[in-house]
Amino acid sequence: MNFELTKQQKMIRQMVRELTEKDIKSRAAEIDETGRFPTESYELLKKYGLLGMTISKKYNGAGADELSYAITVEELSRYCATTGVICSAHNSLACWPIYKFGTEEQKEKYLKPLACGEKLGAFALTEPNAGTDAGAQQTKAIDDGDYWILNGSKIFITNGGQADTYIVFAMTDPSKGTRGISAFIVDRSTIGFEIGKIEHKMGIRGSATAELIFRDAKIPKNNLLGSLNKGFKIAMQTLDGGRIGIAAQALGIAQGAFDETVKYIKQREQFGRPIAKFQGVQFNIAEMKTKIEAARILVYKAANNKEKGKSYSVEAAMAKLFAAEVAMEVTTKAVQLHGGYGYTKDYCVERMMRDAKITEIYEGTSEVQKMVISANVLK
Ligand SMILES: Cc1cc2nc3c(=O)[nH]c(=O)nc-3n(C[C@H](O)[C@H](O)[C@H](O)COP(=O)(O)OP(=O)(O)OC[C@H]3O[C@@H](n4cnc5c(N)ncnc54)[C@H](O)[C@@H]3O)c2cc1C
Repeated sequence: MNFELTKQQKMIRQMVRELTEKDIKSRAAEIDETGRFPTESYELLKKYGLLGMTISKKYNGAGADELSYAITVEELSRYCATTGVICSAHNSLACWPIYKFGTEEQKEKYLKPLACGEKLGAFALTEPNAGTDAGAQQTKAIDDGDYWILNGSKIFITNGGQADTYIVFAMTDPSKGTRGISAFIVDRSTIGFEIGKIEHKMGIRGSATAELIFRDAKIPKNNLLGSLNKGFKIAMQTLDGGRIGIAAQALGIAQGAFDETVKYIKQREQFGRPIAKFQGVQFNIAEMKTKIEAARILVYKAANNKEKGKSYSVEAAMAKLFAAEVAMEVTTKAVQLHGGYGYTKDYCVERMMRDAKITEIYEGTSEVQKMVISANVLK
């Protein structure tokens, strides 16, 4: 197994690291405090070609490989998990399904502007009564000749309200359960499509999380994504890839908290010497470092499998489960090792600890990842 990154992957890491440290990091505390969407960071993602990373150049993408994309989300998330998830949701959950399942016409009209960042994308599956049980969709799409008429609502949608293009799932044949769900590409300008509640969150506070409301929203017939009634499969396959993005986000959060902690313990003195000199502190550092490295190997393996066309569903679930747990553990220890200062907003580790928690919940909770992994073992 080759653990060496290619020259291109190293260059992308360097580029995104510099971008994050120079331009994105400085805004992270303020967008956390105000909860505003960081338009400036989004513009930078666009400028650096990070909004259609794995989409081919034919459709305005960057044509990069899956590992370069994971490294990008990791690096952005080291200092701004909000920017990390904006990038991940756009790339994995909006661009990818159109790239994979869209018609040529849909790619021309919707993928091209998404892949160059001219437009922002979102993915809308979750409903008030369909979270983990995503098959229990209540939003309905009825065939009305030239249009699909959508009625229902979605909740907790990342990039909601900010995005121009939404991948929305709805029941087209409620009698068939998950085999009666279809996927649609929905324009923000659609009449009957409104943005409802914007969530006030514990972490990733600059990332918009919105409710979507559909009241007789007219979706053109051509906007059905993939085949009729095959939407659930599209959602599940999309989430498999999305989980690599979230695992990379968790990995980045953990790495950022770790780096900040190493700096801090070397300069903070108690008992007449830096606290880094105490073995009780050093052992924490060793554990944090080892777990981050183990998470990194899982994340990169899942990305590599996807790139090579191998199966990656279980690898993505393992990477997300483990990296999210590591992010929680590492950020909690980071706050502890900063002592009382770690509990204040003068240091960024408290934000990182709040940001880490969501990685155990969205794009399938940790429990769902365990279901995916164990089902594969026990099949
Ligand atoms: C900030 C944020 C952003 C999000 N972004 C998006 C997005 O862009 N698009 C989108 O579609 N969704 C999005 N979501 C929704 C997210 O994916 C769901 O919140 C998540 O899947 C869990 O669903 P739920 O909240 O309804 O929890 P529930 O399904 O009600 O689960 C509650 C608890 O019960 C557990 N549980 C449920 N069923 C089982 C079971 N069978 N066995 C064991 N444990 C179980 C869960 O693991 C969880 O711990 C987002 C959510 C948040 C908070």
